[in-house]
Amino acid sequence: MENEINYPHIRDYLFDVTKHREPLLVEMEEYAINNHIPVIQRESSRLLRVLCTLARPRRILEVGTAIGYSAIILASEMGTQGVVDTIEIDEDRVQEANRYIERSGIKTTIRVIHGDAAEVLQCLTTPYDMIFLDAAKGQYMEFLPHCLRLLNPGGVLVSDNILYRGMVAKEGFIEHKHRTIATRLKAYIDALMSDDNLLTSIIPIGDGMAVSIKK
Ligand code: SAH
Ligand code: MG
Repeated sequence: MENEINYPHIRDYLFDVTKHREPLLVEMEEYAINNHIPVIQRESSRLLRVLCTLARPRRILEVGTAIGYSAIILASEMGTQGVVDTIEIDEDRVQEANRYIERSGIKTTIRVIHGDAAEVLQCLTTPYDMIFLDAAKGQYMEFLPHCLRLLNPGGVLVSDNILYRGMVAKEGFIEHKHRTIATRLKAYIDALMSDDNLLTSIIPIGDGMAVSIKK
């Protein structure tokens, strides 16, 4: 049970029933596993699709592109008029993401922005209808004011890895190397839950996702 936020049999079952239909996503999932790239869990990606379809965003901002897996998933649920801006700090990953995006044949515009989100976010001014926060868990608190500023009323903020392998909810000893992140994520969850302008639900799927609507 260590490092799991769910019972293994439930996790495995959800994993089984959320298989991708698209060969490219199957390939990317395999590539991510083999190369230790922390892309969104398959069962969480299904929730992301549902949220995207519900919210009908025209503009999405993603923080943390990796190889473009979740960006392609989000874009595939948007119309051709849609725009996904996605920020990635690692240059090699930016290139990989662009290669996969090219191969996906997706007509929705996906713009991979190379840079540190802490800096890029400060430069963004055009609002978004949906924001997917999935990078640098220790900095979510720092990113939050920008997310709130950039989110249209009625827009949805999805924060991934919010339960951090269960360590956020763990009582007692947490290994030193994880302690700071667990503490910061707890503070982030408190900030989401106590913000009167947000309506937030925390879902124990994958590594934990917070879904917040800006009122
Ligand atoms: N959203 C992706 C997975 C992202 S993994 C998916 O589900 O497919 C997190 C990514 O964030 C990593 O590729 C990492 O390089 C990047 N990252 C970490 N810190 C960052 C920062 N400060 N700014 C931008 N990207 C960052
Ligand atoms: Mg994630």
